[in-house]
Amino acid sequence: MVMLPHALSHEASGKCVVCKAEIHGVSHRVVGLGTVCMRCGLEPVECDSCGSKVKRMTLTYLRGRPLCLICYGRERERSAKRTSVSIDGFGLGPEGILRAAMEKMPPGYVLVGLRLNPNSKTSWVAEYEREDVYSMRCG
Ligand SMILES: [Zn+2]
Ligand SMILES: [Zn+2]
Repeated sequence: MVMLPHALSHEASGKCVVCKAEIHGVSHRVVGLGTVCMRCGLEPVECDSCGSKVKRMTLTYLRGRPLCLICYGRERERSAKRTSVSIDGFGLGPEGILRAAMEKMPPGYVLVGLRLNPNSKTSWVAEYEREDVYSMRCG
């Protein structure tokens, strides 16, 4: 199991992911979306599940859907915390395997590891962790 460096899945950027403005001072980290500026954080956004309008900074993006705290809690119970995909690494170098793992990454998940399938010499297993679980664990 190769653990990937933390920097790989988090872009270190001082820009708001919504309006692309440079962030000076206060910013908010919205799980599943990224860092937003104060203005975008306070902007009302509709919850994709129940339709109530809440401030963006209180939302959690799950597989690209903005969800309020209540709906997020409900969805969270339903979806798997971890998932894995098998990758045919035949003829691919380590970089090619990593690229394939990134391409196969399910929306809303983060690549957390790659390991060789114990029954094969060319097949790899890419492991993904749900984005919100991952961000909570890694702070
Ligand atoms: Zn912004
Ligand atoms: Zn909701």
